[in-house]
Amino acid sequence: MNFVPHRFMADLADTDMELRRRLVSALGREAILDTPDDLLAYACDALVDAPPPVVVVLPRSAADVAMTVRIAASFERSITARGAATGMTGGAVAVPGGILLSTVRMNHILEIDPAHRRARVQPGVVTLDLTYAAAPYGLFFAPDPASERICTIGGNFATNAAGPHAFAYGATAEQVLAIEYVDASGDIRQSNLDDGGIDVCSILAGSEGTLGIVTCLDVRLRKAPESICIGVASFPDLESAIEASTAIRERCTAVVALELLDELALMAIAATSTSPYPRNAKAVLLIEFAGLLEDTRESEDRAEALVRRYAADSWVSTHTVAEAQRLWSGRHDVRKALSRISPDLMVCDLAVPRSRLVQAVRAIAAIAKQHRLRCSTVGHLGDGGLHPILLYDRTDIDENAAVESASNEMLEAMLTLGGGAGEYGIGFTKREIVYQQRDATDRAALHRLHHALDPQQRFNPEKLLPPRELEHA
Ligand SMILES: Cc1cc2nc3c(=O)[nH]c(=O)nc-3n(C[C@H](O)[C@H](O)[C@H](O)COP(=O)(O)OP(=O)(O)OC[C@H]3O[C@@H](n4cnc5c(N)ncnc54)[C@H](O)[C@@H]3O)c2cc1C
Repeated sequence: MNFVPHRFMADLADTDMELRRRLVSALGREAILDTPDDLLAYACDALVDAPPPVVVVLPRSAADVAMTVRIAASFERSITARGAATGMTGGAVAVPGGILLSTVRMNHILEIDPAHRRARVQPGVVTLDLTYAAAPYGLFFAPDPASERICTIGGNFATNAAGPHAFAYGATAEQVLAIEYVDASGDIRQSNLDDGGIDVCSILAGSEGTLGIVTCLDVRLRKAPESICIGVASFPDLESAIEASTAIRERCTAVVALELLDELALMAIAATSTSPYPRNAKAVLLIEFAGLLEDTRESEDRAEALVRRYAADSWVSTHTVAEAQRLWSGRHDVRKALSRISPDLMVCDLAVPRSRLVQAVRAIAAIAKQHRLRCSTVGHLGDGGLHPILLYDRTDIDENAAVESASNEMLEAMLTLGGGAGEYGIGFTKREIVYQQRDATDRAALHRLHHALDPQQRFNPEKLLPPRELEHA
């Protein structure tokens, strides 16, 4: 997929060399990448291709970031922050003439404070590394996007990333207690939830690098549960699984994850390994319970009774770590399994209110059928997150077009059902569809907020919102 920005700053090449010289002299040669090969490596995220940035900056500190923002302003250039570039919506690619600022060297866990269950981290810390570092204290970091082995906490905050456990523990924004960030004037600022008043942390959460560049985060750590139990129920159809999930969410207090796998996903997993899931099932619910032993046991018993009431074909549960890991690996490896039966995959990222999940999966199936595409739907039923995965061949022009239309139609269908883009961010590729759904008052308010915090549209332009001049044209 290509990122085609509205503004093309073609005549800026003359000043490129001077810009690079200024950055080298301010931050040191080792902090700057500017060879064509290096720049090309930064010309995409996990899905979207883009023109290379004019220069890549690798700061080590907030002071380096602040200096970069000031230099960018004096050259009238934009800056796009970048974590691990696992985003799939063109959020972490620069616009032409723009500077890319990678947090790869700001990757230190600065402090773990077990007494207060919090940690201070730089934005380039890999998400799962924090959970590994917190484990010896009996603590964990709750956000668990499927990309957690690679993505960064700064990127998670900027996209408000979620995962299977988000409905129980909240998405990333809910784990962030304080931030340090660099604003559009190049000043280093702090925002702390304890300060009271307007909560700037929440304003920057999910803003995808358009309002400021985050340079440090204080995050909440949670106590590891005393007991974990996983239940697996198979169903004759997706609708029964969804209805059972709603009942379990309401009645089982210890439930912390409710994952859906459809028939095609189960077949793909079974084809690649010894599947931990029931054979020939049309739909499976993977249910995790966590907490005190008596609570997980009680929820487990209640869930078993509920799934049977909703026509489950089978139910098994496990308390062993090894079996739980096997079940979660199967869930996490759905894409890998599907990629063995299809040359290309398009992972759609959608969300709907939980009360609309049945309508949503019907709409998804109908759209895939209309475009003659094979589609596997998996999702986080606890918070209404759905990931239809379209199977196709990118060398087939018709299939390419069908996938693009189908993914847009699916997003539009979710917006009609009161949902929208899911957890992976909006970036460039989902910007128009999401923006068009907002009413004029909302749009104006968002532009005013954006203007107040980034008057020159210096931070990650073209993402999340259309440029202001287009709106007022
Ligand atoms: C296989 C796969 C599975 C995924 N699964 C999930 C999932 O389960 N849940 C989920 O929510 N997402 C998922 N994603 C999407 C992606 O991993 C998340 O959006 C993640 O939070 C991005 O982190 P990152 O470090 O890669 O950020 P990037 O992709 O580098 O950047 C994302 C956005 O954040 C901004 N940004 C990055 N760092 C900063 C900073 N320090 N300050 C300000 N802005 C910044 C960037 O400008 C960009 O707009 C998945 C992606 C892949 C490829």
